[in-house]
Amino acid sequence: MAKQARTKNSPAYAVETELVIGGRDPQHSYGFVNVPVVRGSTVLSPTVADLEGHTGRYAYGRRGNPTTEGLEEALTRLEGGEGVVLAPSGLSAVSLALLSVLDSGDHLLMVDTAYQPTRRVCNVTLKRFGIETTFYDPLVGGDIAALFRPNTRAIFMESPGSQSFEMQDVPAITAAAAERGIFTLMDNTWATPLFFRPHDVGVDISIHAGTKYLGGHSDLNIGTVSGNARAFGRIKATHGDLGITVAPEDAFLTARGMRTLGVRLARHQQSGLAIARWLAERPEVLRVLHPGLPSDPGHALWKRDYTGASGLFSFILKPVPKAAVDGFLDELQLFGLGFSWGGFESLAIPFDCSAYRTATSWQPGGPAIRVHVGLEDTDDLIADLTRGFARLASLS
Ligand SMILES: *Cc1c(COP(=O)(O)O)cnc(C)c1O
Repeated sequence: MAKQARTKNSPAYAVETELVIGGRDPQHSYGFVNVPVVRGSTVLSPTVADLEGHTGRYAYGRRGNPTTEGLEEALTRLEGGEGVVLAPSGLSAVSLALLSVLDSGDHLLMVDTAYQPTRRVCNVTLKRFGIETTFYDPLVGGDIAALFRPNTRAIFMESPGSQSFEMQDVPAITAAAAERGIFTLMDNTWATPLFFRPHDVGVDISIHAGTKYLGGHSDLNIGTVSGNARAFGRIKATHGDLGITVAPEDAFLTARGMRTLGVRLARHQQSGLAIARWLAERPEVLRVLHPGLPSDPGHALWKRDYTGASGLFSFILKPVPKAAVDGFLDELQLFGLGFSWGGFESLAIPFDCSAYRTATSWQPGGPAIRVHVGLEDTDDLIADLTRGFARLASLS
C-alpha cells in the first residue's frame, strides 16, 4: 500500500498510532521520515495557464505550506472536526476563534474562570467592536439558558478553569446552546485532544495553546483552532483575512512534540496525581484543586467526560505570612518559577484570582500555588517540595 498523506477521511487508528503517523508523507519528503521545514513566500507556476488556473497545491506562503499543512492534518484527525488552522500563539487562536463567529452587536457568554488574557480580549478588543460579554459561573451547567439574550451568539468554555480547576458540564452547555443555534467554543489546552474531544460532545470550535503540551518543550508559542462543519468555513475565512501565519520552524517543532504526546501525557498524569495525593496529606495544605482526585468537587464530571488528567493543578496552603510562601517557592530547585506550562519541566507559581473574577468570588482560605508536574522523578520532586515546606515552617 502506498503510504499517502492522511486526510480526515482516512481510516481511524488508535490515538497513539495517529500521533505517530499523522500529517507525514515521506513520499513527498524525499523519503525522509519527517515533513521538512519549508520556508517561503513565493510559489512558482510552470506556465501562465497553471498560474491563472490555480493548478498548484500551494499558491502563496501566507496561505500555508507542506510543514504547516502537515501539522494541520495531524491535528484535524486528533480533534475529529472538519479542519484546523494554526495561529502564532494560544491567545491569538482564542482571538481568531472569537472573531470568526461574533459580529458587531452580538452578546458573548464567557466563563468566569477563563485564562485571564482571554477575559481582556472580551473587555477591551471585542468591546471596541460593539460585542458585549457576560461572564458566567463555571458551575452553571444547563442553567446557562437563563443567561441567553436574543442576541447571544456564542458561549466560550474552558474546563477545568484556569488556575482554580472547576470542571464545566460541557455536554449540558452545548445542548442548551444547540436549541438556540448559539456557537460553542472551548479552550481545551489542559486536557489536549487525548483526554477530551470537544467536538464529540457538540462543541463547534476547539482551541489549544499548542505552546503547552502539543509542543511540550517550552521552546515555542503556537495556537490551534479546530472547527466542525458548521464553524470551519468561518474560521478559515477569518484566518485568511487576518493574514495569520505561523513560522514553519514552530510548526515543525510542534509536530515533533506531538509524536511523543501520548507517552509524555501518561507520565504527566501519573506523576501529577502522585504529587497531588502527597500534597493533600501534608499538614500545611488546606486543599488540592485537581479534578482527578476523588475528593475534588469536579471529580464526577471529570470521570464522566474525560479520559485523563494532565500535570497542571493547584493547591491552597493553610494561612501563613507571604514571606513563608515566598520562602517555600524560593527554596525549590526542581520547580522553576515561571509562567506557561506543558513542557517537560516542573513549575510553580503563586496566584490570586480575586482581582479578575466577576461572576464568582475567589476566597480560597489561604495562599494559592499552581504547579506543573514535569517528567522528573517523583521522589526527587517530593524531596524538593519537602525542603520547601521545611523553609515555609521556619518562616511561619
Ligand atoms: C497559555 C494559555 C493560553 C495562551 O497561550 P499562549 O501561547 O501563551 O498565547 C491560552 N489558554 C490557556 C488555557 C493557556 O494556558
